Amino acid sequence: MSLLAEDTEAADLGLRWKPGFAALGPAFFTELRPTPLPDPYWVGRSEAVARELGLPTGWHESKVTLAALTGSLPVAGARPIATVYSGHQFGVWAGQLGDGRAIMLGETEAGLEVQLKGAGRTPYSRGGDGRAVLRSSIREFLCSEAMHGLGIPTTRALCVTGSDAPVYREEIESAAVVTRVAPSFVRFGHFEHFAANQRDEELRALADYVIDRYYPACRTTDRFGGNAYAVFLEAVSERTAALLAQWQAVGFCHGVMNTDNMSILGLTIDYGPFQFLDGFDPRHICNHSDTQGRYAFNQQPNVAYWNLFCLAQALLPLIGDQEVAVAALESYKTVFPNEFEGRMRAKLGLTEAAEGDRPLIEGVLKLLAAGKVDYTIFWRRLSGYMADGNVEPVRDLFLDRAGFDAWLLSFSQRHAGADRALAAELMRRSNPKFVLRNHLGQQAIEASQQKDHSGVATLLALLQTPFEEHPGADAYAGFPPDWASTIEISCSS
Ligand code: AMP
Ligand code: MG
Repeated sequence: MSLLAEDTEAADLGLRWKPGFAALGPAFFTELRPTPLPDPYWVGRSEAVARELGLPTGWHESKVTLAALTGSLPVAGARPIATVYSGHQFGVWAGQLGDGRAIMLGETEAGLEVQLKGAGRTPYSRGGDGRAVLRSSIREFLCSEAMHGLGIPTTRALCVTGSDAPVYREEIESAAVVTRVAPSFVRFGHFEHFAANQRDEELRALADYVIDRYYPACRTTDRFGGNAYAVFLEAVSERTAALLAQWQAVGFCHGVMNTDNMSILGLTIDYGPFQFLDGFDPRHICNHSDTQGRYAFNQQPNVAYWNLFCLAQALLPLIGDQEVAVAALESYKTVFPNEFEGRMRAKLGLTEAAEGDRPLIEGVLKLLAAGKVDYTIFWRRLSGYMADGNVEPVRDLFLDRAGFDAWLLSFSQRHAGADRALAAELMRRSNPKFVLRNHLGQQAIEASQQKDHSGVATLLALLQTPFEEHPGADAYAGFPPDWASTIEISCSS
């Protein structure tokens, strides 16, 4: 087959591509083609992401699109690459990692990078097979869209495509590809990679690229004496602090906060053994492989700071002064608590800060932890109480009624004289009714494994607008069944 014939067979997805990250040059990636996923089928699609990408209506009806998104057809105008990065995993330097199974098609003219995760081996696969299993692909797809629905910065997912091709993990599973979308998939680990290899030129090129594209304001300030790299580090650290505040407020546990899983844009990235808390347990460990609890729920803000320290170390050759680098991380310590308190205040229906807010927040979290009270249900019921004045559904959640009543008194005093309807509305918009609990994902996965993908679509619709009531969908907003606590999610995906 001639090259020309091959080119004419490329799938035109209706997207226009630009060089984007690839303009950095071959030191940053390897050009390659995805490995076709045999006999693919659709598992789930997000029309919201399709619209964001500007895909034509009916985009998914064509077999050509399905073939292109599973690696069987090249995408017209795209130059697929796998990028190289390194990172600290579980606190230990892991050396070179890289996109071992995610292949980036490129960046669209509108500025969105598109990646096929699970699209086959790359030079960075190390011992891996380059594949992703259906189970973890559905989880990533649903959670990306759920986080976006919650208003939490995240990479997005256009679709999940499956195949009956076997993938060998603890058990034999089936393969899938998630088409992921983000303005950039650059991680802390990309910077660590070039710093660790003393490749200052590439390190600078990468930092300049990321600053020019995503943090242009760093170039036009006098902060840190006009040291743009220090300003950049500070900006990343503040975005990360804001992200962590949102995770902690919604009860999201990431599970694998290695530096290669930290987005330079402060997005939630690389969904693996994540979990939304059921009963509130600050020390909850959602990753079955995390035996030491390094990434336990209440450790996350500190771990993010530790990861930022690794980023600071990597940027040091550019910043040029250790004291300045350390100073650039300083604001994390104020931004995180301020953002967290702001989010918690909104959950309590409070628009303005007042003295005593911190004990009010700490008090309720203590009560929730003591009773392992369901985190999402508590906040949603508290919102209901603010709307209708019926406290019983909330009080029923606590064994320690006296403790709850005492807290409720201070909560009510804090709201004295305030507009209850307004507060109730703020609470309804701040306390989701639907989150992607493990057991909900699991039910949708098991049905999908039997070729019924309707559960994925149903969950997606609820999670995209999680603050709405969705009459008739209460079964998805209830307590987890007993078997939910037996679900073990590890790094294996
Ligand atoms: P993760 O823990 O999923 O963030 O992955 C850590 C590193 O392992 C990254 O470099 C991944 O690309 C790589 N990796 C994970 N699973 C596979 C796989 N099945 N095949 C190849 N590389 C993988
Ligand atoms: Mg990763």
